[in-house]
Amino acid sequence: MAFCKNCGSELQQGAKFCENCGAPVEEANVQQAVEQPVYTEAQPVNTPEQEGLAKSALILSIVGLVLAELGLPGIIVSAIAKGKVKKATEAGAIGGKLKAARILSKIGLILSIVMTVFWVVYIVAIGGVMAYGISNGAFDY
Ligand SMILES: [Zn+2]
Repeated sequence: MAFCKNCGSELQQGAKFCENCGAPVEEANVQQAVEQPVYTEAQPVNTPEQEGLAKSALILSIVGLVLAELGLPGIIVSAIAKGKVKKATEAGAIGGKLKAARILSKIGLILSIVMTVFWVVYIVAIGGVMAYGISNGAFDY
């Protein structure tokens, strides 16, 4: 597909002049016009909807990462963030925001699971110490 260098309108195959503005079609112009769409395809842009999905995925993944230290809340938010990443990917969204959201939601999920295990062990340990203390009369006055 060739385009007029002067006005940018589409040129008929083998046309010598542009139908729109009448500018002569040179071989060099056609060559350049052919290369341009390739360049455009190399840098696709998100639609506002795709950008919105990627953005909300990124925000949720950051919130999930922040909540990771609490354990379970981090798991929930990170899982939702991962779902948003999947939805945005399925919608055809691309770019740095989505990539960052994908990585951060994964880290958030792993960290949240580790922290949940930590808290469970911590609570069980405290409970164990308390139970041991009670059975040994440490809390009797
Ligand atoms: Zn033209």
